[in-house]
Amino acid sequence: MENYEIYAIKYAEHDRMSGANFIGGDAHEVPMPLDYYVWLIKGATRHWVVDTGFSAEGAAERGRRFLRCPSEGLGLLGVQADSVSDVIITHMHYDHCGNSHLFKGARYHLQDKEMQYATGRCMCHRTMRYPFSLGDVMAMVERLYTDRVVFHDGAEEIAPGISVHHLGGHTAGLQVVRVHTERGWVVLASDASHFYANMQDERPFPVVYNVGDMIEGYHKAYALASSPEHVIPGHDPLVMKKYPAPHKDLQGIVARLDVAPVA
Ligand SMILES: [Zn+2]
Repeated sequence: MENYEIYAIKYAEHDRMSGANFIGGDAHEVPMPLDYYVWLIKGATRHWVVDTGFSAEGAAERGRRFLRCPSEGLGLLGVQADSVSDVIITHMHYDHCGNSHLFKGARYHLQDKEMQYATGRCMCHRTMRYPFSLGDVMAMVERLYTDRVVFHDGAEEIAPGISVHHLGGHTAGLQVVRVHTERGWVVLASDASHFYANMQDERPFPVVYNVGDMIEGYHKAYALASSPEHVIPGHDPLVMKKYPAPHKDLQGIVARLDVAPVA
C-alpha cells in the first residue's frame, strides 16, 4: 500500500483563554490559543486537500488573525490550488469550508449527513447556524448542481490507503480522514477534537451538535489510528511544535505529519 506524506498548513490563529475550549470552562483559565489549518495529503502521483479554510474577509468578520491564504500555504509545498482535483471537507463550518473561489476544478468529498445538517432544520437555530457561512453552503449547493460533490455515507475508501469515517459530534456529519504513512495509520481528526486535551481528558469543546457522539468519536478516532500519537487534532498549536517543518524556511507555517513527532 502506498505511503502518503501529510502536511498541516497553518493559515490563521485566535487568542483565547482555556475556559473557552471546554464545556464547563477550565479552572486554570490560562491562555490557550487556536491555530487554523488546512491539510495536504501527497501521494506519488495524486494529492488531496483536506478542508479549505477561510479568507481574509472571513477572518475580519469573526475577529481571527489571518496569516496567509491557504492557497499560499499550498503553494509553499508546490501545489497550485486551481490544479487540485479532490478536496475532502471534514465538515462545513466557516473555518473548514471557505475559499470556494480557489478550488474551481476540484470535486468535494463530504458526508451526506453534513449536507443535510447544513441545509436542514437545525439551521433554523442561530446557535447551530453561527459557525456556518451562508456563502460556503450556497457554494456547496452550486457544486452539487454542477457534478462536483462526491457524497460519502459512514466509512468509505477514497483511494488505496485513504479513507473517510463519519464520527459526527461536533457537527452532525463530521468525518475524519485516515491515511496510510510510513509510520502507520495517521488520523486527521479535524474538529472531532480541537485540541489534544479534548480527546485525552474527555473534555469536549463547547461548539457541539451531540456531546455523546463527540466523546464516542474520540475513541473511534483512536481506534482508527496506529497509536494515540497518530491522531492529529484540528486546532492545536502543539501540532506545529510536535512535528518538524519540511524545511527550516517553513518553521511555524507547515508541519509534516507522516514522520515521527520530534517533541
Ligand atoms: Zn474548526
